[in-house]
Amino acid sequence: MARPTSATIHLDALRHNLGQVRALAPRSRAMAVVKADGYGHGLERVARALAGADAFGVAALSDAERLRAAGISQPILLLSGFDEPSDIERLRALNVWTAVHHVSQIEMLEQALPGEPLDCWLKLDSGMHRLGFAPEAFRAAYERLSAMRGGTVGDIVLMNHFASSDEFADSPSQGVQTREQLDVFRATTAGLDAGHSLANSAAVLGWPEAHGTWIRPGGALYGMSVVEGRTGADFGLRPAMTLSTRLIAVNRVRRGSRIGYAGTWECPEDMDIGVAAIGYGDGYPRAAPAGTPVRVAGHHTQVIGRVSMDLMTVDLRGVPGAKVGDPVTLWGEDLPVEIIAERAGTIGYELTCSITRRVRFIER
Ligand SMILES: *Cc1c(COP(=O)(O)O)cnc(C)c1O
Repeated sequence: MARPTSATIHLDALRHNLGQVRALAPRSRAMAVVKADGYGHGLERVARALAGADAFGVAALSDAERLRAAGISQPILLLSGFDEPSDIERLRALNVWTAVHHVSQIEMLEQALPGEPLDCWLKLDSGMHRLGFAPEAFRAAYERLSAMRGGTVGDIVLMNHFASSDEFADSPSQGVQTREQLDVFRATTAGLDAGHSLANSAAVLGWPEAHGTWIRPGGALYGMSVVEGRTGADFGLRPAMTLSTRLIAVNRVRRGSRIGYAGTWECPEDMDIGVAAIGYGDGYPRAAPAGTPVRVAGHHTQVIGRVSMDLMTVDLRGVPGAKVGDPVTLWGEDLPVEIIAERAGTIGYELTCSITRRVRFIER
C-alpha cells in the first residue's frame, strides 16, 4: 500500500480567501503572493486557482518561468528584484515586473541594452531595515529610474514592507512601528506620481489606511493568520491545506511505559497508543511537543512522545474503537495550522512551506 500521507489543497478555499481579501480592500488591486511554491501548496496549482488575482508575486525568477510555462498570463512581480545584468533579458522575455531596492540594480538598468520597458517597483526601507532605499536616498533613486522611463523603465510603483503589521491599528498601545513606517512612507513619497503598494496580509486585515493601489497578500490567501492568538477563521478565511495520514498501528501499552525516542512521555495508565504514518520527514515539525492537538477518526486528541522521521505516536484515550487505518488529521479544517505552529514555536507559513516531496498532493 502507498504511504497514506497526503496534503489536500482546497481550491475553493483559495478562491474564497481571495474574495475575502478583495472585500477588505475593495479599492486596491490584489497581487497574490505565491513565493516558496505557493507557501508549500504548489505554485502552478495555486496560480490556476487564483486566476482572479490581478498579478502574482514571486521571490525567484525560476518561479516566474514556471508560471509562464504553465500558461499564466497575469502580470508577475519579482519581489526581491533581479541579481545580475543577464536577468534583465529574462525579465523582458517573460514580461515580468521587478522590484528595485538597491542602487546596484539601477546601475544595471542604466547599462542595459535597449529593449522592452520593465515595470519597476521601487522599494523604500521605511523602517524594517531589510530591503529598500533609505528615505534620504529614495528620491534620488526615483529620479534615476524616472529618467529611464519610456526606455528601459516602464511604469513605476512605490512599495515598502511592514515589519509588525500583525499588531493592528485599532489599539493605541500597539502598532507603533507600523504607524512610524506609514509616516515615513507618506513623507518620502509625497508628490511622486506613482502607485503605492504597502500591505501584506496582516496589513490588509488590520491597516485599511495602508491598502494603497496594490495589496500583496500571501498567507491570508492560504487561510492563515500571523496575528497572535487569532487564526484565519477569525477573519473569515478558510484553510487551504489539510495534512492527513492514517494509523498504521494501535497498541495496548502498560502504565509506566515510556513512549518513543528518549522515553520522554510516560503512560499514566494502561492505555491504547496509535502510531501515525507521518513525521518530520514529511514536514510535520519535530518541535511539536506532547500535547499538540491532532485528530483521529474525528476525535480531538494529542501527540505523545517525540515526533520521529516517519512516525508519530498519539493518545487514543478518548478515541473509542480506534483501529488501524483510521484517518489522522494533523492540520486543516477544525485544526488550524496556526495552533500547531504555535506549539512548535513557529508560524503556520513555515509549516506549510516545509511539506516534503514524499507527501502526496491532492486537489479538491
Ligand atoms: C512575502 C511577502 C508578502 C506577503 O506576506 P504575507 O504575510 O504572506 O501576506 C508581501 N510582500 C512582500 C515583499 C513579501 O516578501
